[in-house]
Formats: sequence, structure tokens, C-alpha cells
Amino acid sequence: MPCPHRQESDIRPFKLKIGQLEYEVVTDPDEVESNIADDSLGETRHLEGKILLRTRHRGAPIPEDRVVETLVHELLHAAVFVSGIRSDEEITSELEERMVSAVTGPLYAALTTSRELRNHLRGMAVS
Ligand SMILES: [Zn+2]
Repeated sequence: MPCPHRQESDIRPFKLKIGQLEYEVVTDPDEVESNIADDSLGETRHLEGKILLRTRHRGAPIPEDRVVETLVHELLHAAVFVSGIRSDEEITSELEERMVSAVTGPLYAALTTSRELRNHLRGMAVS
């Protein structure tokens, strides 16, 4: 039986409300490939309300856990944008990238390794 964390991702488009904004999570390869830097796994477009996620790279599938971790990373960029903290000019895009990159891994690990947290989040989920 294959490990579920290493399967090719099958993430369908969905909407994600982050603060007062709504983002569409886009995985369609045609749309993603024509709008994302070649070395990027994901990109958040605040004004378009889109989070683009690459699920394949140069023909090879990207494992689902990597795609979902990238979604957490992009979600954090959206959270920073929604918070308005970027209007403080001391937070440059380079600093934001460093902060978001630094917290993505620990947050992803907390969200995915704690059965109790997953159950609590599932209990609060809306359908
Ligand atoms: Zn980033």
C-alpha cells in the first residue's frame, strides 16, 4: 500500500477565506504554468485573489505533502497581506519571505502531526 503522504497530489480547486479576503486555490497546470516563475512551487496573487500551486514540475508529479506545505506557505503570505502589516515599510518582501519560510515548516508539522489538533480543527469545520 503506497504511503499517502507521497502520492501525487489531486487537489481540486477550492476557495479559501483568509481574513476578510477569499482566495481561489488553483492547480490547473495550464493556468499555473503560464503564471508562475519556473523555480517556484506556488505563488499568491492578492489582487486576483488566487493561490497558484504547482502539482507537476517538468513532467514529474510533486508529492502531495509538498504541495500542501506550499499551500500553507502561500496561506501565510495571504495572512500577512490581509493583516496589513506590510504597510509598515520596515517589512520588505524579502523579510516577509524569510519570516514566512521560517514558520511554514513548523506550522505544517504542527497541523499534520497532531491527531488532537486535526480532530479539533475538523470539529470546527464548516461544510
Ligand atoms: Zn514565499
